[in-house]
Amino acid sequence: GEDPQVHDSQGSNGDGSISAELSPGGHTWDRNKWNNFTIRGPSAQNSWSEVTIPLNKIEFKKNKLIGKGRFGSVVRGYHFGDVAVKFLNMDHVEDEDRLEHFKAEVASFKNTRHDNIVLCLGYCLDHSSLGIVMGLCKGRTLHSILHGPNAERVDMVAAIKYATEICQGVSYLHQKKIIHKDLRTKNIFIESKQRAVITDLGLFSMQRLRFPKRNNSMVVPKHWLAYLAPELIREIAGDLRELSFSPQSDVFSFGTIWFELITSSIPFDSNHPDMIIYSVGKGITAPLHNVATIREVKDILMRCWSFNPSDRPTFLTCNTLLNNLPKKRLDRSPSYPMVRSYESIF
Ligand code: ADP
Ligand code: MG
Repeated sequence: GEDPQVHDSQGSNGDGSISAELSPGGHTWDRNKWNNFTIRGPSAQNSWSEVTIPLNKIEFKKNKLIGKGRFGSVVRGYHFGDVAVKFLNMDHVEDEDRLEHFKAEVASFKNTRHDNIVLCLGYCLDHSSLGIVMGLCKGRTLHSILHGPNAERVDMVAAIKYATEICQGVSYLHQKKIIHKDLRTKNIFIESKQRAVITDLGLFSMQRLRFPKRNNSMVVPKHWLAYLAPELIREIAGDLRELSFSPQSDVFSFGTIWFELITSSIPFDSNHPDMIIYSVGKGITAPLHNVATIREVKDILMRCWSFNPSDRPTFLTCNTLLNNLPKKRLDRSPSYPMVRSYESIF
């Protein structure tokens, strides 16, 4: 049963497929607002024009909608190769500061080059929409592989490989002073050659943090809370609009991804959001006693999920910890049971 208080990405059915139509007038964006926007210094202007792709230079095919998420719709297109364009819902961008901030973020996104980070080609802007043009990811998301209707078994060798690639991708981002802010298995694709590709970096700050209350309960995207570090959970509980994401909060999210990889389940999956907010804010993490694996594997998890951000390892350290896992003992360790419910701890 789906908890009615918890909302998934709008209209998405969880495995990436969707049947809804993209509404042509769906993205409202005031061009004048954009033109009046002050660009500070010539270099900023140059870097912006370098990354702008006119919308009419992208060929959109029939059935172009891939899916809808929290920020808008993602459509398939062609621009010297297959691309995915994420059209951002801009009607909530009221202030220029936020826009300026976003502009800086997308410019740094465009400046990333790493095997495990989706290629950002640029942005397109027309009178009604702002889109981010990126490489089209082939394959399934890690979320769909682990939890989708046709879930696949991910063995320990593959789990370590994906986790290592995610670590390498995010430590590259951190070295470039980019905080991902939205590391989730839905934002990680496993491409045909078994390569993990991370999407949606930094876009989170475009989301207006507004959690509608219904029957005195907060409505939050499904599964999202499981990735949020306690210090961020506490900010939500305090009704704060801007969450103070940090490299350490990305590490906490990575911990959740590691948990998903080793258990094929999502922490607190069956718990009410209010309960998760209350418990995680107090430092409770999903129990690991049911997870049949070696101590070293759980150790990585517990360190990433440390309550105190400064106790969490960096991604470079995570990479080393993954590398040092005793592969031989892992091969002989029993297969890990699916841990589906945590109701018992509350
Ligand atoms: P979410 O991350 O919550 O699934 P998004 O708005 O990021 O929501 O994505 C909407 C849909 O588009 C999802 O089905 C996602 O898998 C898909 N998608 C996002 N980015 C890409 C991409 N670069 N290539 C292919 N599909 C993508
Ligand atoms: Mg996404």
